[in-house]
Amino acid sequence: MAISRKNLLNNFTFLSKEGTMYFKNSRKAFFLGVDYYPEEWPPDIWDQDVNLMYEAKFNIVRLADYAWPMLEPSPGRFTFDWLDEAIEKLNAKGIKVILATPRYPPIWFPKMYPDALPVDDQGRRIRFGRNGAWMSYCPHNPNFLRCIERIVRALAEHYKDNPNVYGWQIDNETQWSDPYPNMVCYCEYTKEKFREWLKAKYGSIEKLNEKIGTKFFPIQIYSDWGEIDPPWPPLREKNRGLALDWLRFRSDSLIELIRFEASIIRNIAPHQKITTNRISHQIDNYKLSKFLDFISYDSYPKYRREPDPAVASMYYDWFRSMKNTSFWVMELQSGIFFLGKMPRPGEIRKWTYQAIGRGADGILYFRWRTTPYGVEQFVYGIPGPDNRLDRRYYEIKKVGEEIRKLEEHICETACKSDVAILCSYDNIWSTDIEKDDYGRNFLEDMFSVYKGLWLNHIPVDIVEPLCDLTKYKIVFTPFFYIMNEEIALNLKEYVKNGGILISDARLAVKNEYNGIFSEPLPGLLTDLFGITIDDHDIVEVGDNRRILGLEGAPIFAQKEASPVAWVEALGLSDADALAIHKGTWLDGAPAITMHKYGGGRAIYIGTFFSTELVNLMVRDFINGGLIKPIANLDDSEVEVARRDGRDFSLLFIINHSDKYKKVKLRLEKTYSIEDLFDGRSFESNALTVDLKPDDVKVLMVK
Ligand SMILES: [Zn+2]
Repeated sequence: MAISRKNLLNNFTFLSKEGTMYFKNSRKAFFLGVDYYPEEWPPDIWDQDVNLMYEAKFNIVRLADYAWPMLEPSPGRFTFDWLDEAIEKLNAKGIKVILATPRYPPIWFPKMYPDALPVDDQGRRIRFGRNGAWMSYCPHNPNFLRCIERIVRALAEHYKDNPNVYGWQIDNETQWSDPYPNMVCYCEYTKEKFREWLKAKYGSIEKLNEKIGTKFFPIQIYSDWGEIDPPWPPLREKNRGLALDWLRFRSDSLIELIRFEASIIRNIAPHQKITTNRISHQIDNYKLSKFLDFISYDSYPKYRREPDPAVASMYYDWFRSMKNTSFWVMELQSGIFFLGKMPRPGEIRKWTYQAIGRGADGILYFRWRTTPYGVEQFVYGIPGPDNRLDRRYYEIKKVGEEIRKLEEHICETACKSDVAILCSYDNIWSTDIEKDDYGRNFLEDMFSVYKGLWLNHIPVDIVEPLCDLTKYKIVFTPFFYIMNEEIALNLKEYVKNGGILISDARLAVKNEYNGIFSEPLPGLLTDLFGITIDDHDIVEVGDNRRILGLEGAPIFAQKEASPVAWVEALGLSDADALAIHKGTWLDGAPAITMHKYGGGRAIYIGTFFSTELVNLMVRDFINGGLIKPIANLDDSEVEVARRDGRDFSLLFIINHSDKYKKVKLRLEKTYSIEDLFDGRSFESNALTVDLKPDDVKVLMVK
């Protein structure tokens, strides 16, 4: 249905009164805004759009991520007038912009450079426009890089002195498109780059043969770099070392592409900030984060189905930890996605505070106005397809008004954690290659740990293995399959200095070449845990296996949980058993052990983590006084998050259910408490909070 301009104008309320210019009057501003595509709409409604954004107290807008065809309609001819005009209209209302560097090429690009399109694993050139317009190029193609450089350089030169450009988002959700069941890209440029990458890593072809074990079946002993082709899916059936290197190379390729664009902008406009918005596990985001000014994450909490709210929290904690600082949500769901679940009244507001509670200092809703055409038809904007302002706009407007009252407090606070989960992309990728064997991968294991902590309101960082762990009281290492001496040393130093390390099954099974260690497991960490893995089995449905805590054990005493996917019988060389296996032939074998190492303890779980088991252990640590929950509160549908300032903290209490909740919170001690929404103040160490469905309270405690 064509959109009538008259309807557009009639359906919106015109709002034009002048007010606060947030960046001029406010000492510290929280970035709240929207992803906006003015190029899709007639210019005479832009004023109205901007007025509505202004009325919603927005101060930031992201522009131009789809706009390459509008910015460079023919090769080397740039049309920035429309973007200048949009930026100027936003500027007039005090709204700054993030400009995206373009990635979805104009139609002249594939016509002019057909060899820039990626090639699948069967050697077929992917047609332009497959999977929408996603990744319609090979990032190693010189013509593609030349065209990207030209447009990014032109944009940076044009906007370098524009004070309203806050910064740049490089690309949009950079990832390989990997159309199932094939992967991309297997073009000659990419093959050659992969060989160069291997050469830089191994130095000689003999070393590569030795390290990745090419004399083992399927035997492929290489005598020349040119003989090496990238492995194709299923990667499980290829040399596992080469398969892991291929995934590392793919990550490095995308990071290099982002770095290439960032360096162009840095040279021309060093004062403008640089980020990119990420969701993909194909990229080592820790590595990528090192050269970004701030971190952004795209969040769709209710993409198709009813989600576990802890998933969004985990990703926020994870991306916040990338730079150990705050982060932005560059896209936050504000309506339905492809005819999926509609946010209930209150949910968009709830999602906003959930992200803020986990450390977000910037949030942009996706998107302004609903696109009537194209592949994102039925991806709703804040106004729906009929362009009326409905409850979702007024909910967001209410959030805007609230945020402007809270922002100085929010911006003076940050998240702090005593507990960390160790994450490495080597482990994400290596366990993904073998997921069908284990029925488990790293991310599932990590979420089990996270959920066990989330249920107990324990703040957590998700950090890379070589970071400084000394500030943490407890560190979990879920499914830490790939180990090297440097990481092993970091873990040992951490425990020696008083830390508590908790690891689970299949720890340190493999070296960094994705080969199996030949020493008794857990290999490089055997002395740290004081055990050997003496036997193991897989868990099948109907096994009725249990793990039973022993009487008198310092933790997990007389508790029980079901093992997950894999079980190990632990041999005690120097550790104490805390629990034993029950059921089948492992009956009675140690299942959980603890070893004193220096001033700390290394705890080993002879199965994969489950939320059930982690929850029970965490409760013991809380009862023992080792770690403190943000609040004592027993309701699995209510989330509590905290940001700490110099002399106050903000508590975010979030009802994730569609029911009324009367929540009783017990705090560690008596605080002076102020409800920042209703202004009510009191002193207490216990309070009852009334929460409507999907409601949020923000309390300031001193
Ligand atoms: Zn390629």
